Amino acid sequence: MIQIKKIKKKFGNIEVLKEIDLNISKGEIVAILGPSGSGKSTLLRCINLLEQPNDGQIIFNDENILNKKCDINVVRQNIGMVFQNFNLFPNMTVLENIIVAPTKVKKVKKQDAINDALNILDRVGLLDKQNAYPSQLSGGQKQRIAIARALAMKPDVMLFDEPTSALDPEMVKEVLDVMKELANEGMTMAVVTHEIGFAKEVANKVVFMDEGYILEEGIPQDIFNNPKYKRTKQFLDKVL
Ligand code: ADP
Ligand code: MG
Repeated sequence: MIQIKKIKKKFGNIEVLKEIDLNISKGEIVAILGPSGSGKSTLLRCINLLEQPNDGQIIFNDENILNKKCDINVVRQNIGMVFQNFNLFPNMTVLENIIVAPTKVKKVKKQDAINDALNILDRVGLLDKQNAYPSQLSGGQKQRIAIARALAMKPDVMLFDEPTSALDPEMVKEVLDVMKELANEGMTMAVVTHEIGFAKEVANKVVFMDEGYILEEGIPQDIFNNPKYKRTKQFLDKVL
């Protein structure tokens, strides 16, 4: 579904991504691990063009999305993104947060968008919060709404950037459970996370990033039980 070919990203003189190659197949769950500053967020942000890579190709649904002729807005509609800090619109209710992009960007009829939103809210277990404002929700609830909002666009792939890192420990599970369910339903996902349990249980592929490179990638069993590199082992020893 997504082929990342030799992408590079610089901020000023600093090379933050140094020739990254990565494939994400349909239905695959890719967990991206690595120390702070290794380029994980930048990689995700390049995939949905929040950052423009300096070099390389990103093929998404058979099109190079770095090509100038490619419509960034269409690409973004098909790639859902969930951030560490939820990024909900504070002045809108939960329901309004979820229907705003489908109605404004995709021109879905309001009643259809509402029906869809209610279905999705039910899936994430928050139907009763449809008229609440974000400030009235717990962190875990906010993140489940952020996931619902992304799903409302019916994306082909979902990108998660440390979706549980800002949550109190007791709220991590409710968010991971929603993500597991999505994975079981066949959603294609790339997840930057320090939740090794989630990666072991749910991921088909684990990618370990270090200093702008993908140092190693493989099935969870190999990466966690038998890492090739000392850097990977050192990192895992710290987070496990
Ligand atoms: P990670 O998500 O793995 O912690 P990031 O992708 O956020 O890493 O950052 C990688 C490096 O790029 C860091 O050194 C960070 O300071 C730098 N960086 C990220 N975004 C920017 C930016 N917009 N401008 C300048 N430097 C940035
Ligand atoms: Mg990050």
